[in-house]
Amino acid sequence: MVQVRNIESIIAAPEPHWVGDGFRVHGYFSVEPELARRLSPFLLLDYHAPHVYPPTTNLRRGVGPHPHRGFETVTLALEGSVAHHDSAGHGGVIGPGDVQWMTAGAGVLHREYHDAEFARRGGRMHMLQLWVDLPRASKLTAPRYQALTADAMGVLELDGAVVRVIAGECGGVRGPAQTFSPVTLLDVSLRAGARVTLDVPSAHNAALLVVDGELEFAATRARAADFAVFANDGDALELAAVRDGRAIVLAGEPLRQPIVQYGPFVMNTEGEIRQAIADFQHGAFGRLDD
Ligand code: MN
Repeated sequence: MVQVRNIESIIAAPEPHWVGDGFRVHGYFSVEPELARRLSPFLLLDYHAPHVYPPTTNLRRGVGPHPHRGFETVTLALEGSVAHHDSAGHGGVIGPGDVQWMTAGAGVLHREYHDAEFARRGGRMHMLQLWVDLPRASKLTAPRYQALTADAMGVLELDGAVVRVIAGECGGVRGPAQTFSPVTLLDVSLRAGARVTLDVPSAHNAALLVVDGELEFAATRARAADFAVFANDGDALELAAVRDGRAIVLAGEPLRQPIVQYGPFVMNTEGEIRQAIADFQHGAFGRLDD
């Protein structure tokens, strides 16, 4: 008998802030506060709700070179087009439905911009970025970049719903992302009136962000830009759509390890943070021109 999980909390979008001059994001949680510990292995969620940018001659709209160590940045483009380049020599542009899964590991510098052609034309940007913690043993793994295109995602068709599987497995369908610990990332679209049940082990932390429409869980409703945290009290998530809706579902096995953060570095001890700062200052993260 499947036990459907209850909703532990629903968090409305916090006031937005700017990341560089290109990303107007709602930060639901970020590394050290309680929610990031509650949602391990997820460390941060920045949601760029739909926002229209005017055309510009500034083809570097976004955030310039900055370092990361000890975790992964996962960027989902829902609308618009985002470019990434890093000091490991990786780079690319993602558009609607694509995902870039960047493993900072031992350390990279990267820059994140609106794609130049998108910036020139202007348009609607809708995207989000997650930070996924790396298990202690993999914190200093070699940097990696996975460009996961929309056509590579696993697709599970259910009654009134389509589940695009980015990472992990759902209903026997696997996603293309390679991960360092069990992580499930799903993009679920539901038609009004649809109700779906997704299996997720009760030990895995799980949450979802509504990115369009309106969903319902038992007696609780959530609208676009609401973030819902599931209790760990069952082995299935039930989503029902009041109107046509779409949600990004994140789930993962908690990493039972300390989280110590200094800005863009997330390690397990203060000593590892001091080492990260020293390595960065000595140029160990390589070079990246603006
Ligand atoms: Mn970054």
